[in-house]
Amino acid sequence: MEEIENIKETISKCERCDLSNNRKNTVPGEGSKDADIMIIGEAPGKKEDETGRPFVGRAGKVLTEALEKAGIKRSDVFITNVVKCRPPKNRDPKKDEIKKCRGYLEDQLETIEPNIIVPLGNSALKTLLGQQRISEKRGEIFEKDGRKYMPTYHPAATIYNRKLRPELIKDLEKIGEESR
Ligand code: SF4
Repeated sequence: MEEIENIKETISKCERCDLSNNRKNTVPGEGSKDADIMIIGEAPGKKEDETGRPFVGRAGKVLTEALEKAGIKRSDVFITNVVKCRPPKNRDPKKDEIKKCRGYLEDQLETIEPNIIVPLGNSALKTLLGQQRISEKRGEIFEKDGRKYMPTYHPAATIYNRKLRPELIKDLEKIGEESR
């Protein structure tokens, strides 16, 4: 089993897909290596690319606040994305990019062994569970290959639709309970 720092180091040098061409920094993920909860978004954005840290832009602020309101410390969870480099102009990651990057996420999951995995939004839901619609699947617990999942809204979606914010917090509260 690889250490989380070794995985980070490998990602930092990765040129497996074309997303390596335009990145400023890789964004491997951050948080507790003993996390009970792993939160997985789609891909890094501009701020994340600039800093090498996940969820530090506007959506990241929403996520951090929603976690706090749900009684979860951001430093206690592990936060990452399906792909570790920013797609140009924030386009969706392509299938082959997701496929080439998938091994790193798998390594992180095997190393951290979280009690619950939280896909954020449609893209992460589709990649991790093969399901399409977050609005139908959020808040449900899924078991797949011996792992427990509970998807919820991407925090960015709650910026454009504020009505979703309490739902995100409610889901995170349930995730906190399920993770113990
Ligand atoms: S997105 Fe993943 S596979 Fe592609 S270059 Fe970055 S780390 Fe490597």
